[in-house]
Amino acid sequence: MKHYREELVFKTSTRIAFINISEQVQEAINKSGVKNGLCLVNSMHITSSVYINDDEPGLLHDYEHWLEKIAPHEPIKQYRHNDTGEDNADAHIKRQIMGREVVVAITNGKLDFGTWEQIFYGEFDGNRKKRVLIKIIGE
Ligand code: ZN
Repeated sequence: MKHYREELVFKTSTRIAFINISEQVQEAINKSGVKNGLCLVNSMHITSSVYINDDEPGLLHDYEHWLEKIAPHEPIKQYRHNDTGEDNADAHIKRQIMGREVVVAITNGKLDFGTWEQIFYGEFDGNRKKRVLIKIIGE
């Protein structure tokens, strides 16, 4: 069995961002040489997500709007987590809603996506360096 590990690094210029990372994940699969197996992609931080859905600008806008409704950034003082001096309680909650990781099948060397599926990195506390882990196993 082959195995391969890679980290992607992101530093977004905005607090919230959604980045389609499907091509970078496919490149990692190409490097791994795995033709059939599984690919795990997870955020290595508790204020950002990796999830699968459509790459459609209206939907990305809707995610930001609805996440902000559920867990608004302001006022900072509404969250007990922020009593520690942090200001990112909302980002922890947004990450919990959007998830930590995805697992995608690799078939004939390609991500075996369903219709319109794309892998996204969701940032909820940006402006700093964040890492995403890609782990590939198979043969
Ligand atoms: Zn925090």
